Amino acid sequence: MRSSKIRLIGLVLLIVVLTVGTVAYIFDSKKNNSKVSSNRAQKSTAGINKTDVEKKIEPKYNKLREFKGKDLVHNDKQIPVLMYHSIADNSKVTNVASKSIILPPEVFKEQMQYLKDNGYTTLTLDELYNFLKNDKPVPQKSVVLTFDDAYEDNYTNAYPILKEFGFRGTIFVITGGTDKIGAYLTSAQLKEMDANGMDIQSHTVNHEDLDTLSLEKQQETLAQSKQFLEKLLNKKVDYIAYPSGKYNDFTEQAAKNAGYTMAFTINSGWANKDTNILFLNRVFVNALKGIDQFKERLTSPNYE
Ligand SMILES: [Zn+2]
Repeated sequence: MRSSKIRLIGLVLLIVVLTVGTVAYIFDSKKNNSKVSSNRAQKSTAGINKTDVEKKIEPKYNKLREFKGKDLVHNDKQIPVLMYHSIADNSKVTNVASKSIILPPEVFKEQMQYLKDNGYTTLTLDELYNFLKNDKPVPQKSVVLTFDDAYEDNYTNAYPILKEFGFRGTIFVITGGTDKIGAYLTSAQLKEMDANGMDIQSHTVNHEDLDTLSLEKQQETLAQSKQFLEKLLNKKVDYIAYPSGKYNDFTEQAAKNAGYTMAFTINSGWANKDTNILFLNRVFVNALKGIDQFKERLTSPNYE
């Protein structure tokens, strides 16, 4: 059952890859809009000097918080790590697979409102790592928000909502697209978000299918993307999401050699202490499904 579920997710992602042209077309048709928002983004960061950025960094943006008080869990084995991609209007998208990974901002906001209303804490990846690896306690209602590929709409649409709710999120960046492909986040946007509580981590250089690559080639893209982000953000990058969740027998060694300490697949389920920390599950938030599925996946580790 589980492996057929994994196969199904794999199939969906294969379709996604095959239809990437469709998505590219959509982004292309939005190019003018994109340019406008990109300019706006540059404008909004260009005027901020270093002191302003420093002012905006508050203690609550620490990547590793100490959780105290009641309602903490030490030994619960699993936490849902939600997987998002694009946060944008999908009403004109006809391809089902593409549509499933483009979540409209108002739906995203509804989900964040649900998390807020129900007392959820959004963990950083450092906090998740410390929970999984070092048994550090976290609030009972903990969740991790992740965004794959680093689409520009993560800045224009998701980031303002996350800020509004005081939530933390992680963006896995295809570093070869940074400042080169209009649909992706710019380095200025990545820097701004990093300084304001978002976590910026790796998603390889060119979204390579790792399952087709040698150890050497995998290590190359894993290490280069890590170095790119470390240089850009002047911080350590320890975590990665494998593109399309694909991996082979070399991947674990490649990830270790490149210096990663935790990594994510798209295998369905909650991130579990019993799983190899370099192959953690994630919860796919399907844009074609309603809030009921969102709630179910958030509350049932063994969701269907
Ligand atoms: Zn991806």
